[in-house]
This record gives sequence, C-alpha cells and structure tokens, in this order.
Amino acid sequence: MLDDKDRIFTNVYGFQPWGIDAAMKRGDWDGTKELIAKAQDDIIEEVKASGLRGRGGAGFPTGLKWSFMPKESKDGRPSFLVINADESEPGSCKDREIIRHDPHKLIEGALIAGYAMRARAAYIYIRGEFIREAETLFAAVQEAYDKGFIGKNACGSGYDFDVFVHRGAGAYICGEETALLESLEGKKGQPRLKPPFPAGAGLYGCPTTVNNVESIAVVPTILRRGASWFAGIGREGNVGTKLFQISGHVEKPCVVEEAMGIPFRELIEKHAGGITGGWDNLLAVIPGGSSVPLVPAAEIIDAPMDFDGLKELGSGLGTAAVIVMDKSTDIVRAISRISYFYKHESCGQCTPCREGTGWMWRMMERLREGEAEVGDIDMLQEVTKQVEGHTICALGDAAAWPIQGLIRHFRPELERRIAAHKGEETLEAAE
Ligand code: NAD
Ligand code: SF4
Repeated sequence: MLDDKDRIFTNVYGFQPWGIDAAMKRGDWDGTKELIAKAQDDIIEEVKASGLRGRGGAGFPTGLKWSFMPKESKDGRPSFLVINADESEPGSCKDREIIRHDPHKLIEGALIAGYAMRARAAYIYIRGEFIREAETLFAAVQEAYDKGFIGKNACGSGYDFDVFVHRGAGAYICGEETALLESLEGKKGQPRLKPPFPAGAGLYGCPTTVNNVESIAVVPTILRRGASWFAGIGREGNVGTKLFQISGHVEKPCVVEEAMGIPFRELIEKHAGGITGGWDNLLAVIPGGSSVPLVPAAEIIDAPMDFDGLKELGSGLGTAAVIVMDKSTDIVRAISRISYFYKHESCGQCTPCREGTGWMWRMMERLREGEAEVGDIDMLQEVTKQVEGHTICALGDAAAWPIQGLIRHFRPELERRIAAHKGEETLEAAE
C-alpha cells in the first residue's frame, strides 16, 4: 500500500486548479534550473537507477531507452522527444487525468527529459477525442512559456527547448509509436518496420525518443526525491508508483496511484469499494487494457499487480487498466467485442492482421451464438498463432491474445454454447 507522502500525482482528482500557480505550490517547477544544470548523462543514469519502466504498456526501461539517443548531432540533425498522449487502449484513462489536472508535471518532465537527451523540442501528440484536455494542455504550455520555464533559455539555463502540442484525428493505431511519427509528419498513420528504432531514425528521420505521458510526468519527482526513493517502492524489476485505472463491475470505478505490485484484492478493496455482489461474484479480470489476456478470478485475487507478476499468469500489466468482470458478464460476447475493435482499428498494412482480425472476429461471433463446431475452437486458436508475431506492429498480437486467453480459460463455456445450439443441452442449462 502506498503511503500518502509517496504520491507523485497529488492533484489527480482535480481538487485543486491545474494552473501554474497552484502547480508551483504543489512543488512543480521547483528548482528545475538546478535539475537541468546536471550533466545530461547523470540524469540518464539517475533515471536508469530508479528502475522506471515505460508506463505506456510495454514496460521498456526508460533510462535505457534514453541512453540510445546520440550524444552528438550528426550532420547537424536535431534530436526530438515525442510524448505519446494518444491514450486509446480500451480501459485506459490515466494520461487523460494527468493532462486534465496535473499538466505541469508533464511539461516540466518534458523539459528535463528533453535536456537529458539533448533534444531540440518536444512534441506532445494528444488523441483527437481529448478536446478539453488538449485545451488545458495548450494553455498549460503557454503558461510555462510565459514564465520563461520553456522556450529560449529555458528556466534561465541557457538551454533552448520548445514544446508543441499536436492533436490526432481519432485513430487507435496512431498510438503505436512509429504510426504516431508518420502522423506527426503529416502522413497516413501506419506503423513502420522496426528496427530502426526511433532513436536511430525517428521524426523526420532524426533521432527521437517516444515516451508515454506518465513515464515523463514522474521524472521531475524522481530527480527531486532520488532514484533510490522510487526504486524502494514495489519489488525488484517492478518498482515505483503506478496509476491504476479500475473499471467494470466494482462499486467505485476510479483512477488511483498505488505502489507497483499491490495485490489485486487489496487494490480493489481499498480503492474501488469491492466487487459488485461480493468476491464470490467475480468472474475474470483484464488487468492491463484490452491488449492483454484475461485472468480468471481464482488466479488474479492474490496476484501482484506488476509487470512480472501478471506475466507469470500469462497476462500483463499493460497500461494497468484493470477491467473487472463479474458473473453477469457474457465473457464470449465481451471478447468478441474486443475482437471487433481490433478488426476496426487495423491499419490494413499487413495481411495476417488485415485478414486475420476480420476472420477472428467473425469466428468469435459464431462462437458467441454457438453456431460452430468444436473443431472451430482449435482452428481459431491456430489462426491466432498465425497472426501473433507475424505482423509489423503489436496490434496483431493484441488482437490474438484476448482470444487465446478466452480459449485457455473458458473453453468449456465455448463448447457449452455449441452443444446448446445443436440442442444437445436443454435451454435452461444453456442460460
Ligand atoms: P515494444 O515492446 O515494441 O516497444 C516498447 C518501447 O521500447 C518502444 O518505444 C520501442 O521503441 C522500445 N524498444 C523496444 N525494443 C527496443 C530495442 N531493441 N532497441 C531500442 N528500443 C526498443 O512495444 P510497443 O509496440 O511500443 O507497445 C506495445 C504496448 O503498448 C502493449 O504492451 C500495450 O499494452 C501498449 N498499448 C498502449 C496503449 C495506450 O493507449 N497507452 C494502446 C495500445 C497499446
Ligand atoms: Fe497495421 Fe495491423 Fe500490420 Fe499493425 S499489425 S501494421 S495495425 S495491419
């Protein structure tokens, strides 16, 4: 359980104004000039030592990613920091809260991260649907310029650093980092093949690091309080605080900052008021946004909510968007709906994803109705394996994994529907 004094996002519920004066009273922009007076590599080492792993879903070590950026400009090419605020993963809504209520943590973090990576500017790519959030962000950036915290001679440091906010147009795939870069360059948002990773060839072919909003917004506090403070929360390899977003069949859905690794039951009891209808009514949980497989009730209850703990259960922490489903959920319909989402959002660039997502969704719809053969379940499983790992970006995996999780844990339910549809089971039993 996280001690109140260890909270980074002290205004995540917006009880205080988001503006710069209130933010400064909360400790933002305090001694930033001294923070960026340190050597760039010392800042990167500090972030490495903190153990911060990317909060966008993949959990890649943040300091290590920063260290891939060139120390000197080649051919006069600038380096860039790009902040991914295209939060679109079903279930995820944490970056939205940071931007709404604590935008200065993000802007200060952008300056520090940008300085450490010798970047000329930061681009914050915000999803098109976040209209009010974009307004807040534009205004907060202007406040930071007006105070001289960013722009020419940022914070009086001698370092020039601009921050630009760019609004997306509503495509999920533009949250994939290379599709985002394409979109930022004014092209159709389609993922690029990796490698090269963005540090080698990113925005306009220049060295670029793409980081999630939460990853950047925690950096100023890590530097002020020290790497060992952050590394001391949670457990090895899974440290720090994390914004969990709890939705679905709980008494009080919420976004809450907690220690990494908090057990699922404690997270729900303490912050979400428990499961609707009590713990015996829990069916399954998607612990990290729609891209990760579900975990059945019995396995998740005592699980540590962190990268490695959920990986051991065949799932993942992802964005820590915890979707709780009680026994009233039609689990096949729920996963079929997720399949539809990925079919709809596929950019169509590679065949296994373009064709596979549609095929998998159509099969899921047949299984939902029970209009299938038992052998179709195996065929569906086989198709998910043909999609997984055979596509340009992770959307193919994200479409395959929820179905694999359903088959792994709820195969008897799929078979029951097929039997009921054939009339081998009474209608009452099928209900
Ligand atoms: P990834 O593992 O390919 O990459 C993660 C990050 O690490 C990237 O920035 C990548 O450039 C970097 N990286 C990885 N390997 C590297 C290497 N060898 N050298 C240099 N850099 C390297 O994952 P991804 O496709 O970027 O993201 C997938 C995740 O995104 C999923 O786990 C999902 O949870 C999450 N996701 C989040 C949202 C959201 O709204 N936040 C939406 C969809 C998906
Ligand atoms: Fe596009 Fe899907 Fe291929 Fe990703 S996996 S590049 S979304 S077609």
